[in-house]
Amino acid sequence: MKKILVAGGGGFIGGWLVKELISQGNQVTAVDVKLVSEWSQVFTEAKNLTRDLSLLDNCLELTKDVDEIYNLAADMGGMGFIEKNKAACMLSVLINTHLLMGAKLNGVSKFFFASSACVYNATKQSSVELPGLKEEDAYPAMPEDGYGWEKLFSERMCTHFYEDFGLEVRIARYHNVYGPKGTWDGGREKAPAALCRKVADAKYSVEKKIEIWGDGEQTRSFTFIEDCIKGSILLMESNVRDPLNIGSSEMVSINSLVTIIEKIAGVSLSRTYDLSAPKGVRGRNSDNSQVVKKLGWEPQINLHEGLTKTYEWIESQVKVKNRI
Ligand code: NAD
Repeated sequence: MKKILVAGGGGFIGGWLVKELISQGNQVTAVDVKLVSEWSQVFTEAKNLTRDLSLLDNCLELTKDVDEIYNLAADMGGMGFIEKNKAACMLSVLINTHLLMGAKLNGVSKFFFASSACVYNATKQSSVELPGLKEEDAYPAMPEDGYGWEKLFSERMCTHFYEDFGLEVRIARYHNVYGPKGTWDGGREKAPAALCRKVADAKYSVEKKIEIWGDGEQTRSFTFIEDCIKGSILLMESNVRDPLNIGSSEMVSINSLVTIIEKIAGVSLSRTYDLSAPKGVRGRNSDNSQVVKKLGWEPQINLHEGLTKTYEWIESQVKVKNRI
């Protein structure tokens, strides 16, 4: 049994990670800046705390008597959020920096950082047809402004804490993680959740219409939460200190994603396109050769299966919200 601190334990990925770490018999402390009543999931078997981890004192206190830290805490959201909140995204640097300082001071054995595919050089993502981003494609550095720069800087900070102080670090580059209990409205939701919500809204409305951001031809890959959790724990247990993609390689256009969700929902909608909306890079996919080589694993759950579970959950939330 390990003593594990999950920073951002009240969030989407953090909630599922806490659940899995508890089921593996660990002693888990989940920490989040949000009130526990607002957490995505709460487990009574864990110690659940509300603290601001951008503050050094909180990090120094909470990293005492801890074997491992998973840092999933960040002020983040989908493209609609990160394009308009670059300073807020960059301030998450305080969380990772102060957690690293606490981990070093208190002799924590291993530190996991949730990085992102947003670290990749934008010029390598300018077409919809991509072979997939390899870990080396983060350099020369030209990441997503704001959010991506913070992630890339924090990756390097982790690496240098290993090189200079011997702290064991693990760095996951997540590619678009989705699933039940993720943010699905309010402005921070990402594409799969936003589109599931829009399809569910349209399904129960008279006007069978959906608005898509951009021309819908932009491509991405989407990683189901169960794969994200499995990959994160495998990475933490490995001896891989370099950043590693944790992402599906099943690339899809946003238009095709909508078609899959429509089929799951049993509707067909007329589409309009908002070309001025935030769209992010033109094409992005995960190259999984390194993760297969180093962990002997890559995401297993296909888009249809993951989206079916996600859509069902979001439709149930939409029905509650709209009193259907
Ligand atoms: P999330 O927003 O659901 O979870 C992040 C949590 O961090 C939130 O609950 C938030 O309240 C908490 N937090 C923010 N500031 C804090 C602070 N000062 N102190 C303590 N807690 C604070 O997001 P998520 O989807 O679960 O993402 C988890 C991590 O994975 C983040 O670092 C994110 O950048 C990274 N990531 C996620 C995705 C994805 O597709 N979901 C993709 C790439 C990277």
